[in-house]
Parts: sequence; structure tokens; C-alpha cells
Amino acid sequence: MLKRRELLLTSAALALSCAKKSSTTSSRAVSAVIPSQPTKDGAGVSLNRALGNRALGMLDPFLMLDEFQTENPDDYIAGFPDHPHRGFETVTYMIHGAMEHKDSVGNQGRLRPGSAQWMTAGRGIVHSEMPKQERGLMWGFQLWVNLPAQRKMIPPRYQDIAPEVIPELALERGRVRVIAGSVEGKTGPVSGIDVEPLFLDVTLEKGGSLTVPTPARHNSFVFVTDGAMRVGSSREEVKKGHLAVLSAGEVLRLDGEQGRALVLAGRPLGEPVSRWGPFVMNTDDEIKQAIEDYRSGRLTL
Ligand code: MN
Repeated sequence: MLKRRELLLTSAALALSCAKKSSTTSSRAVSAVIPSQPTKDGAGVSLNRALGNRALGMLDPFLMLDEFQTENPDDYIAGFPDHPHRGFETVTYMIHGAMEHKDSVGNQGRLRPGSAQWMTAGRGIVHSEMPKQERGLMWGFQLWVNLPAQRKMIPPRYQDIAPEVIPELALERGRVRVIAGSVEGKTGPVSGIDVEPLFLDVTLEKGGSLTVPTPARHNSFVFVTDGAMRVGSSREEVKKGHLAVLSAGEVLRLDGEQGRALVLAGRPLGEPVSRWGPFVMNTDDEIKQAIEDYRSGRLTL
């Protein structure tokens, strides 16, 4: 009799531990869907702001996501002439078209279709980002990623990533380009970034699916860049031009609805953010200092 009771207790304990296990491997759900908003930036470039807009100011550590996608040269030809940055990172990812960057440190390079550039502005940089085409489709993205307080004033650095070095994972009904982080044994070339980012470019046909492991407390979003994608445990349909914010969880599930999406995740910094134009710091005084340093030519010293 006693033995039987012990057994029952054991199975109850087992059931409890299984319940705990399944709750920690929970799948992320969609907590909000936000349409991107048309705006202009640089010297008059038309773009859609998917993050860092009125609907969603930021998703720590991500500060902004812009998409430029147009065949009209008037929308992009003005580009982004010389401008400063301090205190964060700008990430450019090109799908179609060509951009050239030049900076105050002497770096110069061309962004081709399928390439990426992870630029850590740190204490300061002045650079230009200009289209290297006069006609045809220009399609790309710029993501802003925050730096932790103690790393905002590090020397600037670049990771220029050629299309060939971005690994591609072939799925039964789709493909994944891994720019940063890992999925199914493929690891992206971006390294040494404070917020431990995951950055994927996912294409799924109808019927295709992808399960991506993510550190449970990292913030994550999916921005649909073409067609539609079913996102999260509820398989909510998210259409092109919309950004789905995800709840916490250890896996992110995507199901194909004939579409393409950027998938981002990163460690939230949980620090105060003071931002003004091209500067992102922790306090208003640090922003004033950045503006003063830029005006007096000391930003890049
Ligand atoms: Mn810039």
C-alpha cells in the first residue's frame, strides 16, 4: 500500500516537472501587429519606417527599422550625404540595388544585393550612404541597434559582409539567410555584438515552416517584406509591410503563406534611452555633449 502511494507521488512529481519543462520551452506568440509608416529621411529618401515610428518607438535593443523599396529614382537618388552617429549601431541589408558608404575614418565600400553592413558608431562617426545606381529597383533595410551604456563610446568599427559569406539554409519549402545568430547549424558571420542578435531573412512557400530557438527573454519581432507569413504559436497571418512583435518564449515558429520576412531577436539592455536624430545615448546631457562635439569637430576625434 505504502509502495503504491510512493509511486503516485512520483508520477505526480513527474507530471509537475513535465509541465514546468513545457512552459519554459514555450512558443512565442504575436503580441502586436504594426503597419510600417511612410516617411522621408536623409536628403529626401522615401522610405517606410517599421520600427521607431509613432506606433512603436523602439523594441529594446532595437531602435529603428526602415525599408526602402522603390523603382522610382526620385525616391532614393538624394541618398544620405555626410551625417554623424554616436552611441549605437546601424545595420544595412540590401536585397536589390547598390549603395556606397564612405566615412570619416577612411572606410569606403559598396553594398551589393544580398550584402550586409554592421556599423558600430561607438563614440562617433561621420559617414555618407549614397545610391550607386541612377535607375531600377532599390530595395534594402536599415536597422538601428542600441549599445549598452559602458560601450557607447568605443572606437567605431565596421563588419562589411559580402553576399557569399552569408550562409543559406535550404528548407523543404523555403530558405533562410543567416546574417547573425544561429539556426539549424548555420551561423551568421556577424560577430562580437553586445546584444547577441539573431538576424534572419526567411522565405517560405505555402506549407513550409521554420522553428527558430531564441533566448526566452530576448525581444523579438518579424517584419514581413513580401507576401505574407503566419507568425507565432497562433499562426497569425501577417502581411507585407507589417511588423509583428512577439511575446517572450524559447522558440519562434513561422509558417509559410508564400512570403518573406526579416526575423530579429536581441538581448534587451533595460537602460534609459535619450535619442536625438542620429545620436542615441542614455541621458539628455550626453545628447547635448554629442551635438556640441559634432559642431566643434570633436565627434570623431
Ligand atoms: Mn547613417
